[in-house]
Amino acid sequence: MTGWVAIAGLGPGNDALITPEVTETLAQATDIIGYIPYVARIAPRAGLNLHPTDNRVELDRALHALQLAAQGARVVVVSSGDPGVFAMASAVFEAVEAHPEYTDTDLRVLPGITAMLAAAAAAGAPLGHDFCAINLSDNLKPWEVIEHRLRMAARGDFAMAFYNPRSKSRPHGFEKTLKVLREECGPDRLITFARAVSKPDQKLVTVPLADATPEMADMQTVVIVGNSTTKFVGRYVYTPRSAS
Ligand code: SAH
Repeated sequence: MTGWVAIAGLGPGNDALITPEVTETLAQATDIIGYIPYVARIAPRAGLNLHPTDNRVELDRALHALQLAAQGARVVVVSSGDPGVFAMASAVFEAVEAHPEYTDTDLRVLPGITAMLAAAAAAGAPLGHDFCAINLSDNLKPWEVIEHRLRMAARGDFAMAFYNPRSKSRPHGFEKTLKVLREECGPDRLITFARAVSKPDQKLVTVPLADATPEMADMQTVVIVGNSTTKFVGRYVYTPRSAS
């Protein structure tokens, strides 16, 4: 039996936003690997082994997937959103790089709807012109790198989407982010806090930067900052397609 590893995105939360390709691949799987809350989204069935693991063990998880596939298993590594956006796809390639014996593994990356796109759709079209995505977690990079990228993105007048904005273990990072944004973008720039997007408790709030507070974000929130032309039209937030 030939094994394989599929690295799949489950979308932002609503099962209607899982792609048919991911659903078909899950149906063929023998093993599911991933962070506990993501594996919990997979319905158990006979012959399917679920391997939920805690956060921050991405490389162990990736290696486990490669080992199982080498034994003939059909493994799906699940991420939320898209697996290539601050998630497991890069971790699997890092594991392959560190363990060249797995280079010939049958690997597929199955895209999903990432949080910023689901959030932008719920808000209107705040990412309708040029934008960038920044992970605000300093687990894998120093704060200086984050601050530099923030400032450069703001000076380039990109709209921005922030993942992992604020956790209990680093409550001050987002405070510093808001300070940098106010310095670079001024008090009137629109900022959207999109929490639990596509889930029953979805909450969207858009305010000018002057009114934004750190408590408006947590780890279930993706934050979108508009560019200098982003505005309200009715209750929607949108960024025109042309630069001013
Ligand atoms: N691979 C995922 C991102 C993982 S990082 C993706 O493509 O969406 C985890 C961060 O994603 C969270 O801290 C939050 O910023 C964001 N996120 C994931 N799901 C979300 C949702 N349903 N609503 C709002 N933000 C979400």
